Amino acid sequence: RPRQALLPNTDKSCLGIMGGGQLGRMFAHAAQAMGYKVAVLEPEAGCPAAQVAEHHVQADYDSPEGLKALLALTKHISTEFENVPADSMKELAYDGFVSPSGDCVSIAQDRLIEKRFFTRCSLRTGIFPTPHWGISRKEDVISAKDDLLPGILKTVRLGYDGKGQARVRNREELAAALVSMRGQPCVLEKMLPLAYEISVLVARGVDGQAVVYPIAENVHRDGILFTTLAPSPSVSADVAGAAQKAALTIIEELGYVGVLCIEFFVLTDGTLVVNEMAPRPHNSGHYTIDACVTSQFEQQVRALAQLPLGDVRLHSPAAMLNILGDVWFSGNSDTPREPAWDQILAIPGAHLHLYGKTEARRARKMGHITFVAPTMEQARAALHQACGILG
Ligand code: ADP
Ligand code: MG
Repeated sequence: RPRQALLPNTDKSCLGIMGGGQLGRMFAHAAQAMGYKVAVLEPEAGCPAAQVAEHHVQADYDSPEGLKALLALTKHISTEFENVPADSMKELAYDGFVSPSGDCVSIAQDRLIEKRFFTRCSLRTGIFPTPHWGISRKEDVISAKDDLLPGILKTVRLGYDGKGQARVRNREELAAALVSMRGQPCVLEKMLPLAYEISVLVARGVDGQAVVYPIAENVHRDGILFTTLAPSPSVSADVAGAAQKAALTIIEELGYVGVLCIEFFVLTDGTLVVNEMAPRPHNSGHYTIDACVTSQFEQQVRALAQLPLGDVRLHSPAAMLNILGDVWFSGNSDTPREPAWDQILAIPGAHLHLYGKTEARRARKMGHITFVAPTMEQARAALHQACGILG
């Protein structure tokens, strides 16, 4: 496995990425800006990342031929999606440098293993995961403590954007929800009184050097990220420091290399709770492209190429607005209509990012807009103005 920096701008300077979505596309943009070529492994033709990458290995994520073809193009490989088969990452690591590792990815792919890991970290961080109970059989519904209700039943694997979740008020609803999950192993989490939600991006290099970004504050709508404000207007200096320190401890305990995003809840009594982590750049970190010295994608490129990590300083308050396919159908129209980008771009500080998805569908992430401004108030005002235009 190469244990040496892959410098840009040579005939070998190619970085690989598992997955062809928007995160892969923005990774490719960052890599290319620095003089790398990019190879994407993704079964779908014309996907957002393949539109911009130099090489597209069109294969399933677990295809031995596909993995071999990717390794023939590059020995430095990362992933842009959480549910990449951990075994594929392990397979690639026999012959290549893989970050994050298959082991790290597999912890983040299983909510129960992830919570067990967070609980172990709590010895050092003092921050616990949500109170929970593994539920995969009818018996588990009976053995769950009363204290966990009302709660949220979540599938242990493959949940994202609020999918694979059911809110339950009592044991009866819990039993019904378990049936609706069709035998998938689940975890019941106590419903917590959230004051607000934050996420912390951290990155770590092969040499163990780690950096942590400012706290971002997230608002979700229907389980999908709606807006991110950075720096978080709600967080106190104490809570911010505790979350950043915990994030650094977690990334070290994992022995993780690359960019990691950790989501926390801040409860109404001020308690910090660790929710989940994503082993990759994250939607809530998109503000870093326009508002930080080093974006989360450039950071991933640096970690993967085994180069020094970049400055994480925020040079401007930022407000990020996710653009879902719904805005193409605003006013309840059945035929999609392109939003008024000219009006959006007339707003000072607007940075428009569209992901190259041709078909707009409801709840589909089509792009995002980051508003930077001298003050958070102005950035927020710009965001509200954009919401008015998009309808
Ligand atoms: P996903 O993988 O879909 O992002 P999350 O566990 O982050 O799943 O849940 C999505 C959202 O649901 C969270 O951002 C939060 O708003 C809400 N949520 C999740 N778990 C809880 C909980 N235990 N108590 C209160 N709200 C929760
Ligand atoms: Mg989440």
